[in-house]
Amino acid sequence: MSVSDLTPLEFDQKHLWHPYTNVVKPGPTFVVKESEGMYITLDDGTRLIDAMSSWWCMMHGHRNPAITHAIHRQLDTLPHVMFGGLTHDPAIDLGRKLLEVSPDSLTRIFYCDSGSVSVEVAMKMAVQYQHAMGFVGRSQFATIRSGYHGDTWKAMSVCDPDTGMHHLFQGALSVQHFVSRPPIRINEDWTDDPARNGLAELRQVLEASADKIAGFILEPVVQGTGGMYFYHPEFLNQARALCDELGILLIFDEIATGFGRTGELFATGFCNVEPDILCLGKGLTGGHISFATTMTNDRVAEGVGGGNPGIFMHGPTYMANPLACAAAKASLDLLTGQDWKGTVGAVAEQMKAELAPARSYENVADVRVLGAIGVIEMKHRVSADEAHARAREMGVFLRPFGTNVYTMPPFITTPDQLSEITAGMLRLAREL
Ligand code: PMP
Repeated sequence: MSVSDLTPLEFDQKHLWHPYTNVVKPGPTFVVKESEGMYITLDDGTRLIDAMSSWWCMMHGHRNPAITHAIHRQLDTLPHVMFGGLTHDPAIDLGRKLLEVSPDSLTRIFYCDSGSVSVEVAMKMAVQYQHAMGFVGRSQFATIRSGYHGDTWKAMSVCDPDTGMHHLFQGALSVQHFVSRPPIRINEDWTDDPARNGLAELRQVLEASADKIAGFILEPVVQGTGGMYFYHPEFLNQARALCDELGILLIFDEIATGFGRTGELFATGFCNVEPDILCLGKGLTGGHISFATTMTNDRVAEGVGGGNPGIFMHGPTYMANPLACAAAKASLDLLTGQDWKGTVGAVAEQMKAELAPARSYENVADVRVLGAIGVIEMKHRVSADEAHARAREMGVFLRPFGTNVYTMPPFITTPDQLSEITAGMLRLAREL
């Protein structure tokens, strides 16, 4: 059969790779024809509420008019131009906005293509900084278990060593230093006992290899892909002090949590400290076009710039793509132009109330909510395909991973739509 005889779905199943799938044994896949607001529409006309915000990025809803308008306008004047030796208003306007909303000490902005690349950039910056400071042995990283930082090589090396891809790529990933995830959860009382708050182990690991470690990277407060785990922000305050003591840079990966998702604009809203390097992505463009950024403080910028060669060795073709910059600026204007905290707080309260019944279900291990993140943790792993099939019958798109049935709804979700999402989650928790 020739390629032209294949239906669109047959072509997809035979020729297109999907995320984390077997290309020769593809799972069920559905053709999406269009999207608007809360909904994605399949080719058979089925409309589904996107309870995943399309992998956590579509916070203002699909095909948001302000964002699509900004992209259209930009498309008609300057869709792209190289950023080497050139600059443009979209990059500058977005930069101003980022400085306005992000933690005060982060003053330098590196625009890049995706979350994983922004992590690569952060790690490269940390190594160049340490080398510039005269610490040429410092090229490894420390991180916490259950983390996820992306699928590129360096990012993968700091993903969880058990649930990540370390075993598959044994020998090919850089050696890094892992400590337990912070043991005290966000809703538990902090204890200063270092044996119980995770800091004794962190100190021991960082001190033992301080001459090799360039940076300590972690997802602050919320670990996403690694388990939807919410931990106590005091860990971050203490980690900052420890990093300062040992000359190790602190890197926050806020690709999943940035821009209000947790109920704070950034994790720095929960703690008293700021990172040396911050990675942002996903919600940056409100989910309309791939984009990310790595921000640093002056110390890192001046360290890297003052070293030899001084130049930072990274520069993607599509760096500061004007379409992406325009989308991101429009998305940030939308966010800061509304009572986002009130909106996310209301979503959180409703999810807390509506997901609570799951606590009594036999197969449920835990129910937790932080900002616009609602999680039912099961005692067993859940099949994403089976979950999708059942949620679909209820008009909701849910795609659990591991043991977690979860939602990260768009901020525009109405109370009725949110009730449809939580009803779908409760059904999955009961039936799967
Ligand atoms: N870091 C975190 C915390 C993430 O959640 C993700 C994506 N799930 C990434 C990095 C990688 O981002 P991307 O998929 O855009 O490369």
